[in-house]
Amino acid sequence: MLKRYRSIKKHSIALRHLATFMTMLSLVLPITGWTQEDGLRIYISADMEGVVGAVTAEQLAPGGFEYQRFREFMTEEVKVAIDAGRAAGATEFLVSDSHGNGQNLLIERLPDDVMVVRSWPRPLGMMEGIDETFDGVIFLGYHSSTTNMRGVRAHTMSSATITAIRLNGVEMTEGSINAAIAGHFGVPVIMVSGDDVAVAENQVLIGDIEGAVVKWAKGFHSAQTLTPEAAYEVIRTRTMAAISRIDDFEAYTMKKPIELELSLKHYRPVELLDYLPNVEKVNSHTIRFVAEDMLEISRFLAVVTGYRIDLQP
Ligand SMILES: [Zn+2]
Repeated sequence: MLKRYRSIKKHSIALRHLATFMTMLSLVLPITGWTQEDGLRIYISADMEGVVGAVTAEQLAPGGFEYQRFREFMTEEVKVAIDAGRAAGATEFLVSDSHGNGQNLLIERLPDDVMVVRSWPRPLGMMEGIDETFDGVIFLGYHSSTTNMRGVRAHTMSSATITAIRLNGVEMTEGSINAAIAGHFGVPVIMVSGDDVAVAENQVLIGDIEGAVVKWAKGFHSAQTLTPEAAYEVIRTRTMAAISRIDDFEAYTMKKPIELELSLKHYRPVELLDYLPNVEKVNSHTIRFVAEDMLEISRFLAVVTGYRIDLQP
């Protein structure tokens, strides 16, 4: 009996200490949108053209003499953003490997509680897995658009086949298309990393997001770049800045219905797509498709860029 009374008393003292500790903890925690109850979930979309030092296919595709090393730099940029995000209060991360074959990240180097979306096709493309439970999106290794006259490896979705993508009349970047997909779920983009042109272009389109410049474009295949360690420091600092003011950012949304104008390099895809009842040919190189929302736009773009009759299996 006495023993039981003692243990209850001990228990209540422990509870009191815990309450005091929690109060003290709340005083030292950074002021963010983070609430302990629901955590802070961050979606990271990782491309590779905007990774530190990357300038040509030698770094960007299997077979390039530097590709394996640049997979490591890309992975490290993601890891740095996760570690910095966590230090600033983020609790969960989903990463999409969104470059080339979608199998660039060295997944064993990432923390055990992180999951990675790999390979294609996938309905939401570079944003697969995003939903309304996320609090913010980070773009890493991004590049400028196909209609930008500057920027390392500037293109939009496919440098070989697409010459422009407009949504509701606005020339889009991969970043702004993906921001609009996140915006469909009410999730804001909070940061972008890449060359100076990509960061500036996405800041103009998406809004006042944090930007981590890791290199300065000198041409389509040339840049003045930081070293990897210096780039990680920039990404670390900007990620922490973004998370610490996460309530400032607004979701990037499109007025519905959404009109897509897609300009292609070649004649025949335009001719064939025009056969579809909901697609209209605007000129010899451009089609128009009107969608209910960004989910439809994303799937349409996935078909246009990914479909071939001889796809196997
Ligand atoms: Zn890429």
